Amino acid sequence: MLANPLVRDLLEKYSPIWALNHSTAVLNWDLETNMPEEAAKARAFASAQLALMRQKLILSLNDPLHRASQERDLDDYEKGVIRVLKRHLDYNTKIPPSLVEALQKIKAESTINWRIARKKSDYRTFQPYLEKMIELKREEADKLGYDKHPYDALLDLGEEGLTVRDMDSIFSKLIPNLKRILSKVSMESRFPSNHPLESVKYDSNAVEEVNKEILKILGMPEKKFRMDVSTHPFTTSIALNDVRITTRYEGINFKSSIYSTIHEAGHAIYGLQVNQDLEFTPLRNGASSGVHESQSRFWENVVGRSMEFTKMLTPLLKEKLSFLSGYDSDQLYYYFNSVRPSLIRVDADELTYNFHIALRYEIEKKILEGKVSVSEIPQIWSDTIGEFLGVKPPADSMGALQDVHWSSGSFGNFPSYTIGNVVDGLIWQNIRKNLDLDQIIRERNFGELKNWLGENIHQWGGTYAPKDLLMKTFSEEYNPEYLVRYLEKKYLAS
Ligand code: MG
Repeated sequence: MLANPLVRDLLEKYSPIWALNHSTAVLNWDLETNMPEEAAKARAFASAQLALMRQKLILSLNDPLHRASQERDLDDYEKGVIRVLKRHLDYNTKIPPSLVEALQKIKAESTINWRIARKKSDYRTFQPYLEKMIELKREEADKLGYDKHPYDALLDLGEEGLTVRDMDSIFSKLIPNLKRILSKVSMESRFPSNHPLESVKYDSNAVEEVNKEILKILGMPEKKFRMDVSTHPFTTSIALNDVRITTRYEGINFKSSIYSTIHEAGHAIYGLQVNQDLEFTPLRNGASSGVHESQSRFWENVVGRSMEFTKMLTPLLKEKLSFLSGYDSDQLYYYFNSVRPSLIRVDADELTYNFHIALRYEIEKKILEGKVSVSEIPQIWSDTIGEFLGVKPPADSMGALQDVHWSSGSFGNFPSYTIGNVVDGLIWQNIRKNLDLDQIIRERNFGELKNWLGENIHQWGGTYAPKDLLMKTFSEEYNPEYLVRYLEKKYLAS
């Protein structure tokens, strides 16, 4: 593989970019886990310099990339290398340094002011910064270019090929079905909206031991993998044999820590199972953020929140956490799967989560179209979440100010969370043709599950664009029907 001489030449010129990405990943991991506070200024300087070096190197790929792309009879990996590098080059060519700098500047200012605004729950403090940010994001979309909708240009950055048309189609099918399932679940009250264990405090060391045991059960390879603690859990693939996750211990409601750990382990398994021959290439990352999220959520929700997994885990939980002595696996299952229409996205359960994404999607779409103004966002937010979930934010801190994303210039990233769930539906539908998931979980035979995911999704890394990967593996794209079926089976079957 990757034998074409012109592609090899291109990859050789890509090597220093690989090394910069690798170094930046270590610096970012350190920043989130270990770095002393006052090191921030020096770290920001170093990171900015590395980003500039990276941009220059990417622009220098223009000629070798052009030469390699003229070649015929390239294999899928070679085509993948060219496709991914073209995307990098395209961005760096179309977006002028002045816009990059303006975006960086507003990002720094608006993040600080978003924090202040959220604390005071005063949207108007944040509004002028958000207005400026959106003006620049629209400019970015215009420079990148799009066929139908300015939002398409931004969606494509995180999820190659994703369009407003795709997302409109997904949500038009998903939302009515989710409403139907949620209303039945609320009526039946089998899945509780609150659970006493949610307010039980825990000893962090005990839950850390549980997390470490879970990682062992999932078969995380000790010599290529580690776990640390950070405020916001994340996964970073520094190299194919150096994948790191973080988790957090809030001291209350222990499920939040263990499901964070399982979620990040899901991302890590993807990173660890990419074909080793792709290491020093731009294909070493996954297909897209949505496909990556499908992996973390598959392990977290489909595997981790299942009845079989709960049963398998119960003896360990009861051994390590003494406050569980009066609980059996049935009760733990309903604690792990409480369903509560709520205001805060990051606290949302499997059933209500996509409403939170649909809300942000609609606002981002309309704001980029110029159909609504920034000042109208809190009202639209309140009306939409009210319509979806029957709840209204009492203050903007629990509404339009709750996420960091907009202040940091992330527009078009939220939909990839729903894409992850939709892809999980596809996996759930197809994997059962070959594997008995319940038995695998019961027998802790996770190697078999990892092999299936490795063969069908992980090994390719970024070789295929997400839609092509799905077509190749499942013969269809973002069909939300199976996610609906999965949720029906879980929440409505008695
Ligand atoms: Mg994730």
